[in-house]
Amino acid sequence: MQLTKRQAAILEIVKRDGPITGEQIAEKLSLTRATLRPDMAILTMAGLIEARPRVGYFYSGRSINRLAAEKLHQMKVGEVKSVPTVVHEQCSVYDAVVTMFIEDVGTLFVVKENGLLEGVVSRKDFLKITIGGHDIHKLPVGVIMTRMPNVVTTTADETVWSAAKKLISHEVDALPVVRPVEGVKGALEVIGRFSKTTATRILVELGEES
Ligand code: ADP
Repeated sequence: MQLTKRQAAILEIVKRDGPITGEQIAEKLSLTRATLRPDMAILTMAGLIEARPRVGYFYSGRSINRLAAEKLHQMKVGEVKSVPTVVHEQCSVYDAVVTMFIEDVGTLFVVKENGLLEGVVSRKDFLKITIGGHDIHKLPVGVIMTRMPNVVTTTADETVWSAAKKLISHEVDALPVVRPVEGVKGALEVIGRFSKTTATRILVELGEES
């Protein structure tokens, strides 16, 4: 968030002299209360200052970075996840590559008939297999995928910050969003996808808000 000169001046006054009324701030800046109103609204909505009736404005103690961090810690994967692209284990490598192109994704989640997660297959897996001289029409993706329990996953109620950290620390492009299946130990149903694109979109949206 980029503050205007006047907003920065107001913030400084509120930091130093708060609680302070709008009238007093206007006086200090030699401006009218009406002129300041939009700036006060922006600073209040951004959470940088707070208004208390009959007391006035005071500094919230939160920096712009702090506010962005709070947002990332509050936002849940379930709110931002996208639709997963899935294939079955028996799907040929050829068909999986075609699916990847059609769906315009870099990672496919491999599931059982009932939608339960079995593995993940990505561009690098396909590149590797093309070097091996295999018949990609016959070879099933199940042979080349990264298999459970080695798949890094996320859940709808995990924070966006925590899921994004997993992408970085495990050096992968996408995580399946999963939901444990009641009564079936270790079974995970795929309900979405959280990818580097999702994370980048959030970053852009945070930037637009500022
Ligand atoms: P790319 O193949 O485009 O570089 P990744 O970096 O995501 O994409 O994948 C690298 C390797 O990690 C591949 O072997 C892939 O099967 C595996 N992989 C991808 N996503 C995951 C995940 N969520 N959990 C575990 N392994 C993954």
